[in-house]
Amino acid sequence: MKPATIVMYHYVRDLGRSRFPAIKGLSVEGFGRQLDYIQNHYSPIAAEDLLEAFSSPRKDLPPNPILLTFDDGYSDHFANVFPLLDARGIRGCFFPPAQAILEHKVLDVNKIHFILASVSDAQAVLNQVFASLAEFRAEFALKTTGEYLSAVDEKHRYDTREVTVLKRLLQRELPEPVRAEVVRRLFAEHVTSDETAFACELYMSMDQIACLRRNGMHIGSHGYTHAWLNHISPQAQAIEIDRSLEFLQELGVQKNNWTICYPYGGFDDSLLQLLRERQCRLGFTVEVRVADLDADDRLTLPRIDTNDLPS
Ligand SMILES: [Zn+2]
Repeated sequence: MKPATIVMYHYVRDLGRSRFPAIKGLSVEGFGRQLDYIQNHYSPIAAEDLLEAFSSPRKDLPPNPILLTFDDGYSDHFANVFPLLDARGIRGCFFPPAQAILEHKVLDVNKIHFILASVSDAQAVLNQVFASLAEFRAEFALKTTGEYLSAVDEKHRYDTREVTVLKRLLQRELPEPVRAEVVRRLFAEHVTSDETAFACELYMSMDQIACLRRNGMHIGSHGYTHAWLNHISPQAQAIEIDRSLEFLQELGVQKNNWTICYPYGGFDDSLLQLLRERQCRLGFTVEVRVADLDADDRLTLPRIDTNDLPS
């Protein structure tokens, strides 16, 4: 076994001094302490090192290698993460969803985070969602409330049952036009009606992402619209991948040497085949364990969460 630890991060911000203290994220102080821990117990590596560990002749990695990955292209990563990594000479991997950056649209998944951070009662929002489905039921042949409740059978590591149901309904279970409209209304009611301004605050700009790259950070694909890539057709998968590749090429990433982090960890066989055709080199999932470079496929690498390490 050749273990390699890959850690995933999302929000890293001064929650107590932010406008949305209820957002679930890591504090900047906690991140600094976690970097101390990592430097004391692991050897941080770059995406390029991991790539070489899969190539032949295979390059050996330092003892206890660790790779840090940052999902979703948040401004947090430029303002809070980059300075700390840079000061310590650590090269992280960043996976921005292209549409959010290029079109200043707030991802539905992020709208849901900020809706939940703005209300005191998630059950009330879930009731509001079920009530609003009445007007769409006939046109979209929607299921009953009971059927939706039983369709969401998974447990989430950190979320309560009502939050899990709400997220799954609004991210996946409802037909796309219905969930987009329901999320749009909830976001306008509970968070803000100015989505563009919110997106500009929430996500990095192209210039910031280019700056990360110039300073040794790795930039990879996180899809175009942040769709569940295992819930769409092979044709739609190709559009998602090719549009995200155009975005990476604008940043100078080579077409035959790139990586992907699957939104929500979703992938399937047709996607993996497409990625091999497009010469994708590494794929990161949300399967929670330490990777084994002797056994794991380079396109389906597991990651642990920042919460799995001390902070
Ligand atoms: Zn994501």
